[in-house]
Amino acid sequence: MTELYVGMDIGGTKTAAVVIDADGNLGASTLLPTALGNEGVLQSAEAAIAALAEQTGCSRNDFTSVGIGVPGQVNSELGEVRYAYNLRVESLSLANELHARTGLDVAVENDVTAAAVGAAHLMQLGHGSVAYINLGTGLSAGIVLDGHPVRGANGLAGEVGHLAVDPRGRQCPCGQRGCLETVASGSALKTYWPAGGEHPGWVLADAIAAGDTEAKLAFELLVEGAAATVRTIGVTVSPDTIVIGGGLRKIGAPLIDGIRANLEAGERKSPFLQSFMLSQRIRVVPEGMPVATVGAALSPRT
Ligand SMILES: [Zn+2]
Repeated sequence: MTELYVGMDIGGTKTAAVVIDADGNLGASTLLPTALGNEGVLQSAEAAIAALAEQTGCSRNDFTSVGIGVPGQVNSELGEVRYAYNLRVESLSLANELHARTGLDVAVENDVTAAAVGAAHLMQLGHGSVAYINLGTGLSAGIVLDGHPVRGANGLAGEVGHLAVDPRGRQCPCGQRGCLETVASGSALKTYWPAGGEHPGWVLADAIAAGDTEAKLAFELLVEGAAATVRTIGVTVSPDTIVIGGGLRKIGAPLIDGIRANLEAGERKSPFLQSFMLSQRIRVVPEGMPVATVGAALSPRT
């Protein structure tokens, strides 16, 4: 029997999980609501494993390993997560506790780092360096070198959202001013366009199409901020590929086209910037590609 690996992405509202085989081919998948708190997260993970076993027609003991992507500070060596506030988790020894309940080998990865690994694998980006920018409610990035994630001390590599680039910029919840997250994220978009409601990224394209000038200005500011983020990562790491993912990619082609046009305009003015070829190196995660779950499934082997 082929080896089967579970990959799971536990978010603040939903837990998504998949099964992949040793060649990375996708099998069963499930999407469940997340219960919050330490006990809730453990129960959600157990429920997802049970659902996948049922769909696959096997026992959960047949799974080789479980990889879990979670928000917050993750110590992958110890399988611990801290400060995952949208899961209402302050500190949880997720790998050990889930192992105690299921007998399975469990690995834990930061969710954006897992998505970066999944994007590098599913988009077949091969060897070299990949920077994955997660434009979600917040802003962060994952770096992958030759298929292996760069986690950094305390698992904190890639927190580009809190690079304070503008000392006179807006106050950020992290305690600094002018962080990239204040100009390139869902929360930035909310500030630019309060009329867009709770999830402005979902309705922005329609509002622009309907001639809403405030929505159009908000979109332009978001594109500027996202392009600044690409340049910041670009000149720091000079990755072979920069992948745009996260909830805001639902805005669709206008977002990636806008970022690319902004980068091209900068490159025309600056031979220095042109040498990084960032406008040619950016890609967007295709709609529906399960980068977070597949990356989590791969994480026990990275
Ligand atoms: Zn900040």
